[in-house]
Amino acid sequence: MKFFGKKKDENKLDQDKAKPKTVAHPELKVISGSSVSKSTPTPTQPPAEPEQDELIPHVDNVIIVASGKGGVGKSTVAVNIAIALSEICDKVGLLDSDVYGPSIPTMMGIREQPKTNENKKLIPLKSHNISLMSIGFMVSEEQALIWRGPMIHSAIRQMLGDVIWDDLDYLVIDMPPGTGDAQLSLSQTLPLTGAIIVTTPQDVALADVRRSIGMCNRMNVPMLGIIENMSYFISPENQKRVAIFGSGGGKKMSEDLGIPLLGQIPIDPKICECGDLGVPITVAYPESPQSEAFRHAAQQLIEQVKEIEQDDLTIT
Ligand code: ADP
Repeated sequence: MKFFGKKKDENKLDQDKAKPKTVAHPELKVISGSSVSKSTPTPTQPPAEPEQDELIPHVDNVIIVASGKGGVGKSTVAVNIAIALSEICDKVGLLDSDVYGPSIPTMMGIREQPKTNENKKLIPLKSHNISLMSIGFMVSEEQALIWRGPMIHSAIRQMLGDVIWDDLDYLVIDMPPGTGDAQLSLSQTLPLTGAIIVTTPQDVALADVRRSIGMCNRMNVPMLGIIENMSYFISPENQKRVAIFGSGGGKKMSEDLGIPLLGQIPIDPKICECGDLGVPITVAYPESPQSEAFRHAAQQLIEQVKEIEQDDLTIT
């Protein structure tokens, strides 16, 4: 446990509990030609869009974290997987593109807004050794609810091309839930390494999850695997696993669809608490079985990425 237990830190955590409302960054709306400002673009002069590979040329792998619906722990998984990856690969970025509920800054304990350099490019914030950017910096909660496809597309491009993403081994992108505009936009904007689908045991049989997988297939985004979140509870008395919501769903789905089950994450109040306090469980309680489950999933993810790379080499 790195963070809890000290008087001084407790005070800080209490202050941090008050969640900030997302407010748009004052400069972000005017940064690029593909801005999300309300001014109407001239139809005759569309801004020149950079080639796919030019947007984030120094990023080796882009992983999207998606889910069929909200509330299954997609952002929690994105945050903790990014941290677990950074313990292995060091250079990891996290992009929160969940326009309908950008919670990553809170989960990562970020209170400030990103700065821009002399060329008006955004400098990612840094927290827990992760470079971080969030669409929540560009848009207030009220605005987000009325966003439509083209605005989301512009914002996502801006979060990629107008941010100084330095050399990264992995960029993890937390997607909005469902199979909407953001997914389509990203898959058309970037060469994606692959997707992780997050589900819960109660939801594995639901059509939402299969739709998410179907969408990745249609967009030719490789499926890296499923992570079953809130999979079981570890009894504090005897450390035994209790399958509160039933067991075997994720495994069965993985077998049925031929997609790897990267990991099963326990349900635990500490995971929720740590997210609210801005110190993810993998940082706050690195030795816990919950953190171990995230690390295992990250390791499996790396294996899958290697396999895809290997397949690509074999094909060419
Ligand atoms: P999503 O991104 O799918 O909407 P979140 O990651 O925001 O979901 O999680 C929704 C809520 O569930 C949050 O309060 C989060 O802390 C909590 N949560 C997520 N995963 C777990 C878990 N394994 N155990 C306990 N609480 C969790």
